[in-house]
Amino acid sequence: MEDSDHDQRVARALHHPGAQPTGAPLTPPLVLTTAYVLPGDPAGDYQYARWANPTWTALDEALARLEDAPVVTFPSGMAAIAAVFYGLLKTGDRVLLPADGYYTTRILAERFLAPMGVAFDLVATAALDARSFDGYRLVLIETPSNPALDLADIRAVSARAKAAGSIVAVDNTMMTPLGQRPLDLGADLLVSADTKAVNGHSDVLFGHVASREATLLDAVRDWRRIAGSIPGPFEAWLVHRGIETLELRFARMCESALVLAQRLQGHRAVRSVVYPGLAGHPAHQLARRQMRGYGSIVGVTLAGKAAAEGFIGGCRFVRAATSFGGLHTSAERRARWGDQVPEGFVRLSVGCEPVGALWHDIEQALDAL
Ligand SMILES: *Cc1c(COP(=O)(O)O)cnc(C)c1O
Repeated sequence: MEDSDHDQRVARALHHPGAQPTGAPLTPPLVLTTAYVLPGDPAGDYQYARWANPTWTALDEALARLEDAPVVTFPSGMAAIAAVFYGLLKTGDRVLLPADGYYTTRILAERFLAPMGVAFDLVATAALDARSFDGYRLVLIETPSNPALDLADIRAVSARAKAAGSIVAVDNTMMTPLGQRPLDLGADLLVSADTKAVNGHSDVLFGHVASREATLLDAVRDWRRIAGSIPGPFEAWLVHRGIETLELRFARMCESALVLAQRLQGHRAVRSVVYPGLAGHPAHQLARRQMRGYGSIVGVTLAGKAAAEGFIGGCRFVRAATSFGGLHTSAERRARWGDQVPEGFVRLSVGCEPVGALWHDIEQALDAL
């Protein structure tokens, strides 16, 4: 179905250079240099390569069109999150982090923020709606949470947290700019691990921060420029190539994930399935309002550790690997990382393979349990 706002945004991102002179390359050049010709008094955007690079610029502009907001890129998702912390927080501040979000974010706060006098508290994503935000300089939301796939209402939480004087940031990795629009829902900033679906080819670590508030994004950009947390031009070039197919890949992944979630529910070897697109998900109505598609991750609980490992090992078209959002379907048992899930919980990251072949493969592996 046509959605003019969404479609226009995707088309603009694909055609971002606009009219170009005869002979111009259709794709952005990969520029490898440490410095630019700079006689006399320093002038212009391109002076030294820790500050700017034309390949980053091409990617920044394409991402900015997808986000409808200026973007600063980073060499990984964690580098983007760290830039928000170090760029915006000072000693004496307090931050609120998801208890069930990406675990390295919590480790960063524990190991490096707390000793510098930035305190943090944890809250479960499903409990955010009832939480008070008094006293927090920064509230970070990650919805859907991972791997439990609980949801928070970004619009409601942002409004209350901002009224309490907090900056609101959303980790939008799972849904990408095409699946969820945190800035339109009132968040001040978003971070994204483009390592996942945004690049989508499981070959690059990357991240970005987007914000429509210039003072916030300037602080994040200054952190990058001064601390040197800069992306490599080749990685930026690859991510640019990746986002050209983001719409196709993400639409396929979300559609297939819904089909698989529905079919998995009906298999005798499956104890339970969690997916925001299922009518039985506790926040399904919120998911319908807040998300476009329901994401590429399906949580499947099998009888126990042996069943889960047997299932993963029995599939031909499902790779045993961590991470998610790549075009190859992959799966892993999350209890191996200490997540608060049953031993038999499998996180299935649905890729771009034809869904019929994928289901056939998954079904035969489940049948064999
Ligand atoms: C993977 C991930 C990150 C970290 O990204 P890296 O590129 O591995 O540093 C942050 N947040 C979420 C939600 C992630 O899934």
